[in-house]
Amino acid sequence: MKTHGYGALNADSPLKPFSFERRSVGPHDVHIEILYCGICHSDIHTARNEWHDTIYPAVLGHEILGVVKQVGREVKRFHPGDHVMVGCLVDSCRTCPSCKQGLEQYCEGGFTLTYNSPDPHMKGKPTYGGYSKQIVVDEKFTFQVPKKFKKEQFASLAPLVCAGITTYSPLRHWKVGKGSRVGIVGLGGLGHMAIKLAHAMGAEVTLLTTSPGKMKDGKKLGADHAVLSTEQGAMEKLGGTFDFILNTVAASHNLEPFFQLLKRDGTMCLVGLPDVPHPPLPVWELTLKRRQLSGSFIGGIAETQEMLNFCAEHNVTSDIELVSIDQINEAYERMLKNDVKYRFVIDMSSLN
Ligand SMILES: [Zn+2]
Ligand SMILES: [Zn+2]
Repeated sequence: MKTHGYGALNADSPLKPFSFERRSVGPHDVHIEILYCGICHSDIHTARNEWHDTIYPAVLGHEILGVVKQVGREVKRFHPGDHVMVGCLVDSCRTCPSCKQGLEQYCEGGFTLTYNSPDPHMKGKPTYGGYSKQIVVDEKFTFQVPKKFKKEQFASLAPLVCAGITTYSPLRHWKVGKGSRVGIVGLGGLGHMAIKLAHAMGAEVTLLTTSPGKMKDGKKLGADHAVLSTEQGAMEKLGGTFDFILNTVAASHNLEPFFQLLKRDGTMCLVGLPDVPHPPLPVWELTLKRRQLSGSFIGGIAETQEMLNFCAEHNVTSDIELVSIDQINEAYERMLKNDVKYRFVIDMSSLN
């Protein structure tokens, strides 16, 4: 079926209206009319070919919320009129050990990303993302919007399926909960979700930031403390006190001052992806206290639904600024200046 959206035609020009074909609805497919789509930094990297793998034209967007229009004949979990979401993945091999354990994000056979992956259903074409009116997705990779959420909240749910799950998954994996002392490095799209989620899990949360202006904001979002990571005295006082640190900063930076804040056996997990590697960490920072440096990538399919249910139960949503589709290029420029609190979401009704 024909649909329209906004696409990047090459690395250098702004996004423009673009029409393309979606596959017809197969037995296990859900046909979704997109209502909202969040804007993620990965969208900008891909639009501008900064990861050197963009297939043009590219339609970005992997924080999708919409309403089901029709379902394939085998689909039992979804019905027309249901509100549903789609995140960063639309398929995986389903047979490798990772897929079998519900860790599709680590699929060894190769997963299909929501955009810019070769589309197994549309030979020779890439997958096209959520900056569009409609999408057709396999039911396994479609999430139910929990009934507890009200319609007025829908726009602010879109970022949960990327920024939300990217921070939820490591917080769960390292068993953050009541009694945990957690540090969150950086307050952007990921950091603001990390604070809300760690707080909702019952942890004592400290925001570590380089901007004095963000300290108050961090506390408003649920952090118990906010500390300037450039202030040596304050950082020294925190030495050896954290069980877990989630580092959300995507720019290359010195990890050592944060690492020193971990207790024995503490873990720092990286979720930001810098273009240039971080400076090396002295090995004795790991050996002397058996600390661990780790990384984490989005989350599994069942875990993403679990995260949405957790957010519904604790009334966690993303702080967003709603924009119309013709403001998208301006939104990109503002994101590059960190001028957004904390995620842009496109109102897809503005696309005609
Ligand atoms: Zn994303
Ligand atoms: Zn797999």
